[in-house]
Amino acid sequence: MIQSAWHLWRQLRAERWPLSRLRALQLEGLERLVRTAHEQVPFYRSLFDAAGVGPRDIRELDDVRKLPLVDKAMMRAAPESERVTRTLGRAAETVRISTSGSSGTPFEFLIDRSYDVWRKAQCLRPYVTNGRLPGQRVLRLTRYAEGPGSRSARAGIFPERRVSSVAPPEEMLAALRAYRPHDVQGYPSALRLLAVEARRSRAPIPRVRRIFSDSERLSPDTRDLLESVFGAPVVDVYGSWEADNVAYECRWGRGMHVALDSVIAEVVEEDRPAPVGAEGELVLTVLHNRFMPFIRYRTGDLARWLPESCPCGRTFPLLQLLGGRRYDMIRRADGAEVSAMALVGSFAALAGSVDEFRIVQKTATGFLVEVVPAADHPVAAIERRVKDLVAAQIPGATTEVEVVSRIPRTEGGKLLPFSSRVQCP
Ligand SMILES: [Zn+2]
Repeated sequence: MIQSAWHLWRQLRAERWPLSRLRALQLEGLERLVRTAHEQVPFYRSLFDAAGVGPRDIRELDDVRKLPLVDKAMMRAAPESERVTRTLGRAAETVRISTSGSSGTPFEFLIDRSYDVWRKAQCLRPYVTNGRLPGQRVLRLTRYAEGPGSRSARAGIFPERRVSSVAPPEEMLAALRAYRPHDVQGYPSALRLLAVEARRSRAPIPRVRRIFSDSERLSPDTRDLLESVFGAPVVDVYGSWEADNVAYECRWGRGMHVALDSVIAEVVEEDRPAPVGAEGELVLTVLHNRFMPFIRYRTGDLARWLPESCPCGRTFPLLQLLGGRRYDMIRRADGAEVSAMALVGSFAALAGSVDEFRIVQKTATGFLVEVVPAADHPVAAIERRVKDLVAAQIPGATTEVEVVSRIPRTEGGKLLPFSSRVQCP
């Protein structure tokens, strides 16, 4: 905890370091990462060899572009032992991270303790830099409402109350009234339900200092609604399981500041860097995860660099996220809508047995789940598991499971893990 606090202090300072200093640090981190990956991680060794690049080709930051792009499918296809740094692999104390992937592909990877400590600080930075002080209460609308919660919450440094993002909106509002949080934090779809319920109730609501949204695209109309109902600024945070919180707004709301001390971020269009202002895919190199490196990792999220610097004085450059991660809502029989995040998130339990999945709501309680089973995994067991997962989130649901060889992508090339065919009332 003390180490994380030290990292956090350093990270808050790094936001305002001169760009030259940040870029020098990034180059140093990249050189170290590429050397380690080339010498000790078979997955990268063979990729680099095939592309004819190696540590000696990295002399300046832009040389990152000489390295091949990787994506989740490539990493999943390689055995875990091939993706681990060999010398660290034997001795390191590790943490396993499982994700449903907001893209609909379950995925697991490992991090070591030293990166875990950095990551915990990185996770807190967007909130602390936007004014959250130790002791201030946070109401979180999250799919992880159960479980022990973060260490800083348990220690009472950043106390929090968690409510399921699929809880009835009345329950969310009751928690807001009872807990009187300084900050409210959650998926935009869940925050929206809370705001609509607060407005519907007509009774005064406790004053909130800040609203933090994450994990889904925050649409301008949701932002306006939240700001008008709660009378507090909305701060959007971008993170992923692979890289944690790497971009976040400040109070000026001009775009998201990209954490140059944690990642090298690129916006790539057809394998080339997109010019400032032009749209492309966000590609990340995670600088501090040397145990199971992510180098030029395609996020599947669309973004563009913004040309201006921010009046707040932070030197971290500004990025605009253009969506990608959008979920439909689950439409219940009573007409209420709940976020599909929890349902999609619970499919993380299928990591290893399912390559891809897609959930389609056909009627109020009828669901179709398409799955692409991983090689050699018995289909009957997957079917049972899928039905249990849906029933755990939506009591009374009936689920058809269809085994398919491929999940079709949207026009934008995305795998949409959830969609609903139930019409809005
Ligand atoms: Zn700013």
